Amino acid sequence: QDAVHRVTVTPLPQEAGVLCVLEDLSEVEQMGQMRREFVANVSHELRSPLTALTGFIETLKGAAKDDPAARERFLAIMEREAGRMNRLIRDLLHLSRVEAEERVRPTAMVDLVEILRSTKATLRPLAESSGVTVRLDLPDGLKTQVPGDADQLVQVFQNLMENAVKYGGAGGEVVVRLTPDSLPKAAALRIEVIDQGEGIDAQHLPRLTERFYRVDGHRSREKGGTGLGLAIVKHIVQRHRGRLKIDSTRGMGSTFAVILPSE
Ligand code: ADP
Repeated sequence: QDAVHRVTVTPLPQEAGVLCVLEDLSEVEQMGQMRREFVANVSHELRSPLTALTGFIETLKGAAKDDPAARERFLAIMEREAGRMNRLIRDLLHLSRVEAEERVRPTAMVDLVEILRSTKATLRPLAESSGVTVRLDLPDGLKTQVPGDADQLVQVFQNLMENAVKYGGAGGEVVVRLTPDSLPKAAALRIEVIDQGEGIDAQHLPRLTERFYRVDGHRSREKGGTGLGLAIVKHIVQRHRGRLKIDSTRGMGSTFAVILPSE
């Protein structure tokens, strides 16, 4: 019922009849709608930290000028808000970069074991402060390389493992498992990021990789989320001709599986 059509009727010369063109503009219309929503979302996400910053600048110039304790507190909040804007802009740039190209040029063979190990090390401070252990479950004697862009693949596993610690950390352990798999027409490797945390209601699953889609916006922002992480993951995985599968049950935890062709 959302279809949008355009009909153009042009008379043909010498009364030979009329040319009638019926165009389906639904897709164009839908893309325009999505673009408008995206711009509105970005503006909103940028405006809230900016409003906070402007407000605190005013307060620092006025009432809090001679109150060192208040000044410290306000400066800490301003730092946090500036950090939020920074992360948002960083993620927007990442997203626009990975959206721009359809397919990644297979630059090199990338070793997934190396990526998973270094990502685990990067996330150690966050995991420790959240009381979560990250365990890598890696196979013996398996070729663990895939063709791809190392920086982008790091980004994929960093986003997924960080989410597992942030949202799934209640279970105490995050397991990252690498196993052989297959895709139509190619051998593949499957990397699963498994948590035993809060899980996600089935109704949210189809929309989870949309830009700015969050199950709980307040919680995501509190944990420094931008709402763009899974959109970035989806695009990078697609560009590597891979698949992203999300399995989750409320209260039981989530499994985010990435399947990447290994040849
Ligand atoms: P964010 O920056 O908000 O983390 P993401 O795109 O990475 O954005 O994730 C989108 C939303 O999906 C999150 O806000 C969160 O509600 C939900 N989510 C992601 N990973 C998990 C997980 N492992 N467990 C539960 N919820 C998750």
